[in-house]
Amino acid sequence: MKQSTTLVALIGTSTLLTLTSASANASGEVNVYSARSEALIAPLLENYSKENRVKVNLITGSADALLSRLQSEGDASPADVFITVDAGRLYRAKDAGVLQPFETEALNKVVPDHLKDRDGYWYGLSQRARVLFYNPEAVSASDLSSYEDLADPKWKGQICIRSSSNIYNQSLVASMIDAHGEADTLKWIKGLVANFARPPAGGDTDQIKAAAAGVCNIAVANTYYFGRLGLSDNAEDRAVFDKLAMFWPNQAADQRGAHVNVSGIGITASSKNTDNAKQLIDFLVNPQSQTWYANVNNEYPVVDGIAPPKSLATFGEFKGDQVSLSVLGENNRQAVKLMDQGGWK
Ligand code: FE
Repeated sequence: MKQSTTLVALIGTSTLLTLTSASANASGEVNVYSARSEALIAPLLENYSKENRVKVNLITGSADALLSRLQSEGDASPADVFITVDAGRLYRAKDAGVLQPFETEALNKVVPDHLKDRDGYWYGLSQRARVLFYNPEAVSASDLSSYEDLADPKWKGQICIRSSSNIYNQSLVASMIDAHGEADTLKWIKGLVANFARPPAGGDTDQIKAAAAGVCNIAVANTYYFGRLGLSDNAEDRAVFDKLAMFWPNQAADQRGAHVNVSGIGITASSKNTDNAKQLIDFLVNPQSQTWYANVNNEYPVVDGIAPPKSLATFGEFKGDQVSLSVLGENNRQAVKLMDQGGWK
């Protein structure tokens, strides 16, 4: 049995990687477009390929580039499966007509309803929460409570968060619209913007580092960025992790839970290998895959009963918002409009 992993070609900014196991015996193929980088997904696809003797071709690229590519390729697209992050982006793919609805027994059983598209166009593979990272020397945990509270004038000049062009923030605002309506969400945005320590700049990691450096006292960022810093080979990164504490917002009994989002997967409208695509997706939600994927990505599994990633284990369990992630996509346009009106650059 010959096992090989071959780098086949470079196409623009995206990489095509063919994961072939026992190629002579391969019973079919499945073509994956992934906005997750190769290191975060390829070993898992390779395991699937080995176990099922299906050839997997992986093309990685940026989320927006892959979506454009799917749209321009149309019915001629070789892609069977699309992997990307954030429900807002998964919604865009559904809305653009590049996905098709599907279900499997395993997916129906193990993926919670709120972590998948309400019409079955995509399913979550891992969860991330958008939470608060604070400097315990400057802020007491007992003064923190909720996203809503971040608009309180007591936090003036103390908050770091990236720009409104970022999908993670758009999805957070989309969840606020669902919880409070547009008028109150606009008020919240204005209050939050008034508390910014600086005009938004950089990504989530930059906000966390800024909080550690004293630029602000509270950073809003996704959980996995913090986990990554804790595992870094770089001592300065680990010092950032050690200096800050993580706070789960909206955990009180009468609150809806921390804002969660997903990395997710769908089958393309053009797929010619839907049976293999479904088999692959079922493989990705089995307990072993969920454990590997969560640990490598520093994310939380979508499947109940699988341990959190080791890097975040000390932060324990949390209550996640149960709102259907479909809503985040549906409210995206309104969210962008309100952020603009509220002066969130
Ligand atoms: Fe990210």
